[in-house]
Amino acid sequence: MTERTYPCEFCDTTLEQEEKRVTLTLNRGGKLYVFEDVPARVCPNCGHRYYNGPMITHLEQMIRENTLHGAKPIEAYKIPYEAVGS
Ligand SMILES: [Zn+2]
Repeated sequence: MTERTYPCEFCDTTLEQEEKRVTLTLNRGGKLYVFEDVPARVCPNCGHRYYNGPMITHLEQMIRENTLHGAKPIEAYKIPYEAVGS
């Protein structure tokens, strides 16, 4: 199965074909769901991540139906703006 390559929509850099494993967080219903080792294509220039659409839909469905195994929902937290940055 061949996939078309799309340039990054932010910086127009051609994305690498191979997927990397990243940590994905979804904020739903005031809780933060952390998914580890999620495949995503990462822009080599700006680092923007591109996820597989159906996979995200599936994860969101699991959140809605509360059938998650392995992902831990934690209370969402807010990071004060002052704490952002180095
Ligand atoms: Zn980019």
